[in-house]
Amino acid sequence: MSRIQQDQFIDDDEEEVCPLCVEELDLSDRHFRPCPCGYQICQFCFNNIKHNLSGLCPACRRPYDDKTVEWKPITSEEQAEWDIRSKEKRSKKAAARQKEVQKREADSLSRKHLAGLRVVQKNLVYVTGLQPTIREDKLLETLRGKDYFGQYGEIVKIAVSKAKDTAKDQQSVGVYVTFVDKEDAATCIASVDGSPNGDRTLR
Ligand SMILES: [Zn+2]
Ligand SMILES: [Zn+2]
Repeated sequence: MSRIQQDQFIDDDEEEVCPLCVEELDLSDRHFRPCPCGYQICQFCFNNIKHNLSGLCPACRRPYDDKTVEWKPITSEEQAEWDIRSKEKRSKKAAARQKEVQKREADSLSRKHLAGLRVVQKNLVYVTGLQPTIREDKLLETLRGKDYFGQYGEIVKIAVSKAKDTAKDQQSVGVYVTFVDKEDAATCIASVDGSPNGDRTLR
């Protein structure tokens, strides 16, 4: 059984089920009283117990006796009402199924959308190992410039992670560069990756 089938609300407004087979009791089952103790089961289970099993009522262990089995006649009004209710129930179930299908479609659409966003992330280049010697307020401008990442293409955004103290008062920052074009990002990665910057290697 799939998860979706397991995770469902049981719509049990007035839905009576057979305690043995958990099938819904139909109209004739509801008018059927197999045992004087009142324990209700469906006719299928009743016949199964009587002919293939112990023949005893599962609730009170009295043998099922054709003389005590009650069949209340079904009136035409009851039949008509039952038919209307069954029809309503069927369309309610169909509507619920339809809703489930729409929800799944929406989920899969939003997943596709997210997949698209990940592709957009290919514009992003992350460079570590930079040790800026320039004052912070000039840094972003410099990095954007033609001498730095600007040479590879048009830049959407540059973000610099806070400088972390590394060994011997050298400071290293991480730089996120988002290019307009992912080809530019690829070019940038190809030329920056592994290139020396002073005594450090950029990645
Ligand atoms: Zn049953
Ligand atoms: Zn009984």
